[in-house]
Amino acid sequence: MRHTVLAGGVGAARYLRGAVEAFDPADVTAVVNVADDTTLHGLRVCPDLDTCTYTLADAIDPQRGWGLADESFNAMAVLGRYGGIDWFSLGDRDLGTHLYRTQRLAEGAALTEVTAEISAAWGVEATLLPVSDDTIETRVTLAGGEEVGFQEYFVRLAHSVEISAVRFAGAQQARPTAAVLEAVESAETLVIAPSNPIVSIQPLLCVPGIDSAVRARRARNVAVSPIIAGQALKGPADRMMRELGEQATVVGIARRYQDLAATLVIDEVDSEFTDEIEDQGMRVIAVPTIMSEPGVARALAEACHQAGAPQ
Ligand code: GDP
Ligand code: CA
Repeated sequence: MRHTVLAGGVGAARYLRGAVEAFDPADVTAVVNVADDTTLHGLRVCPDLDTCTYTLADAIDPQRGWGLADESFNAMAVLGRYGGIDWFSLGDRDLGTHLYRTQRLAEGAALTEVTAEISAAWGVEATLLPVSDDTIETRVTLAGGEEVGFQEYFVRLAHSVEISAVRFAGAQQARPTAAVLEAVESAETLVIAPSNPIVSIQPLLCVPGIDSAVRARRARNVAVSPIIAGQALKGPADRMMRELGEQATVVGIARRYQDLAATLVIDEVDSEFTDEIEDQGMRVIAVPTIMSEPGVARALAEACHQAGAPQ
């Protein structure tokens, strides 16, 4: 049995937390977005990988939803004193992760290898695979025409500005790792996590070979909607969809994923859209999808697995 998840940050991490309760964690593999990754103060920072690792380790800060619990920000305060870049908060404990990763990458280790070392050190038994060992960089065009890096949009501008386009620099030249292709192809069920479809899932699909490998097994793929009642639970996914001319509803999600997955899991509050989505050619499962309690995430993972497994 293998349960593979296409993953971004928070939404995916909450799903994975349920999956490792529902199944043997050794059977759970996440293919994780790297297009949010950035270099700050010379340190390589991989927000989606770290969110998945810290969440699976039960070490995530429960209030913020990112970074480590029991965190302090003394290094940031000193940086601020120098007028250094302090708009992207890196906690003192979290800095240890970035120091380790940066050193290992400088020694020539691949991101896949370093990620395995970091997640093992946190006792994570699921497999976390960066989609590629190559660098991919999300670039966001603001409505005014200026192009900025993803973290500048997301953190410095607090995603409170309108956008007109998104692109993934380096994606066409990136190679998926062999482990990633194998995890997609050999999965009993492949789940598209309830992550931001534009900046978490799309950059995974833009890596050559991933989109076709996912499409080739459509019947056994299940997508979970990150949009509930026309809104993202957190973050700008709904606004980004609207600004790029899409419908920020489960119907808009179905349009994006209909060629990739046979089944769409929507929240029960959206069950009125079932017929409309089924007319578009996707099977619909309407269940509770707000994973504020681990029990909901576990039941969601079980429902997804069953929907994708051969009948
Ligand atoms: P980020 O990379 O940390 O921004 O996180 P992701 O891309 O993985 O996820 C962001 C999306 O996850 C948002 O659109 C949220 O609506 C969605 N999300 C977060 N938690 C949940 C949840 O419990 N249920 C569902 N259905 N979606 C969620
Ligand atoms: Ca992210």
